[in-house]
Amino acid sequence: MKKLSNYIDGELMPAISGDYLSVYDPSRGEQYAEAPDSDSRDVELAYRAAQKAFPSWSALSVDERSAYLVKIANLIAEHTDELAHAESLDNGKPLTLARRVDIPRAASNFRFFAHAITQFASQSHEMTDAINYTLRQPLGVVGTISPWNLPLYLFTWKIAPALAAGNTVVAKPSEVTPMTAFLLAGLCMSAGLPPGVLNIIHGDGIKVGAEMTKHPGIKAISFTGSTRVGQEIAKVAAPMFKKISLEMGGKNPNIIFADCDYDKMLKTTVLSSFANQGQICLCGSRILVERSIYEKFKNDFVAKTAERKVGPPQDAASKVGAIVSKPHYDKILSYLKIAREEGGQILTGGKTVQPKGYENGWYIEPTIIEGLPHDCRTNQEEIFGPVVTIMPFDTEEEALLYADSTDYGLACTIWTQNLSRAHRLAKHIHSGIVWVNTWLQRDLRTPFGGVKNSGVGREGGEEALRFFTETKNVCIRYL
Ligand code: NAD
Repeated sequence: MKKLSNYIDGELMPAISGDYLSVYDPSRGEQYAEAPDSDSRDVELAYRAAQKAFPSWSALSVDERSAYLVKIANLIAEHTDELAHAESLDNGKPLTLARRVDIPRAASNFRFFAHAITQFASQSHEMTDAINYTLRQPLGVVGTISPWNLPLYLFTWKIAPALAAGNTVVAKPSEVTPMTAFLLAGLCMSAGLPPGVLNIIHGDGIKVGAEMTKHPGIKAISFTGSTRVGQEIAKVAAPMFKKISLEMGGKNPNIIFADCDYDKMLKTTVLSSFANQGQICLCGSRILVERSIYEKFKNDFVAKTAERKVGPPQDAASKVGAIVSKPHYDKILSYLKIAREEGGQILTGGKTVQPKGYENGWYIEPTIIEGLPHDCRTNQEEIFGPVVTIMPFDTEEEALLYADSTDYGLACTIWTQNLSRAHRLAKHIHSGIVWVNTWLQRDLRTPFGGVKNSGVGREGGEEALRFFTETKNVCIRYL
C-alpha cells in the first residue's frame, strides 16, 4: 500500500498524529493508498515553515521567482505520463483525458504565472503638485484549498499565482484525490524550490481546511469546492477580515437556438454534459432547446450519448470513467431517484455499470432526463455527475428566465448564429462566464469565477495576482 507524505519545510514527513486516511481507486472501489491524516499541529508546522521562508522568497527578483516556476512547469511536462496515470487511478477519470487536459494544464498554470508576473504592473496617478504610485506587495503566508474533480489542475491554478506574487503557501489538496499533489512535492524538491516556500498538507476538511481558515497568520484563503464549504469558510474568515476567493458550485445552462451550427453544437454538447463524468464545475447540466429543433436534438443527443462507452479509466476506449468516490456515487444515484419521483423521464442512462474485472467500481451511465419543470430540485440543485436535463423553450425571454432561475451563476453556453442575440443574452445573463458557440475554451489571462452562490472574487490572469497582493498607495508631493 502506497503511503503518502506531507511536504513541510522542504521535507516529506508523516502527520504528527501518525494516522492515515484511506485513498481509493474508484475504478475498482478499493483502497490503494493512504494519506496523512493531519491536524492543527501539522498546519502550524507548515505555517511556521512558510513564515520563515517568506522574507527571502518575497525578496527574490521577479525573474528569479519566475525561473523556479518555469522549472516546476518543465518537470510537470516531463512527468506527464506518470502524473496522468496517477490522476486517472486516483480520480477515476479516463487516462486519455488526464493526459490531454489535466496534466498539460497543470504545467501551463506554472508557466503562465511565471510569465504573467514579469508583466504585472501597477498604476500611477499624477496630480498638479504630487505623484501617486501604487505598490502591489505579497500578503505573506497564504492558504489554498482545492477539490477532487480536477486535482492537480486546480491545485496548481492557485499555488502558481500565489508563489509568483511573492507569497509563501500552505496548500491543501482534496483528501479524496491526494496523489498528484504528493507527486508535485517531489517535483518541487527536484526543482530546488527553497524549503518552506510551498507546504502541502494532506487531511480532511475539518482538521486541516478549517484550521487553515481560522489560523490568524494565514492572510488569505483561495478556495475551490462546494458552496456549502464556501459558506463555512466565509463565516470564519469574515470577522478576521481575511481575504477570500471562493470558487464554488454551479448548475450551468446551455441555451440552444434553432439557428445554431447544429453539428458543432451537438458534438460539443455531448462533451459539455459528460466530460470527466460530468464532474467539471463548468459542465452544462440544464440544456434548454428552442422548441422547433427540440425533437431532432433529443433523438440525436440520446443516440450520441448512448454511444459513449462507460468503462475502466485506463482503457483507451472508455469515454466515461468511474465516479470519484462511493459517497459521491451514492449522491448522484439519490438524485436519479429524486428526478424519477419528480416525474422526469430517463431517455438514456440512469443505471449503474459493472465493467468486467471492475465489478466493484463506481460507474454510472451518462443520463439524459426530460419532462421536468425548471424549478424542481433536479433542475435547481447541483448533482455534479453524468446527469443532464433537457427542456424546450419558445422565446429568448423564456430561455433567459429558466437559465437565471437557480441560485448559481458560474458559466453558461449559448448556441446561435444570431450575433445580436448572442451579445444581448451574454450581457443580461447572470453568470461569471459566457461561452458563445464554444465550451471550455480557456485563455488563462481572462477573469474566472461565478456570481450568486457560485463565487466570490475572480481568479485567472491579473485577477489572481491582484488577489494575492495587497495594494498600497504612495503619494509624494514635489511642490
Ligand atoms: P468540497 O467543498 O467538499 O471540498 C473542497 C475542499 O474543501 C476539500 O479539500 C475539502 O477537504 C475542503 N474542506 C471541506 N470542509 C472544509 C471546511 N469546513 N473548511 C475548509 N475546507 C474544507 O468540494 P468537493 O466535493 O471536493 O468538490 C466538488 C465541488 O467543487 C462542486 O460543488 C463543484 O461545483 C465545485 N467546484 C467548483 C469549481 C469552480 O471553479 N467554481 C471548480 C471545481 C469544482
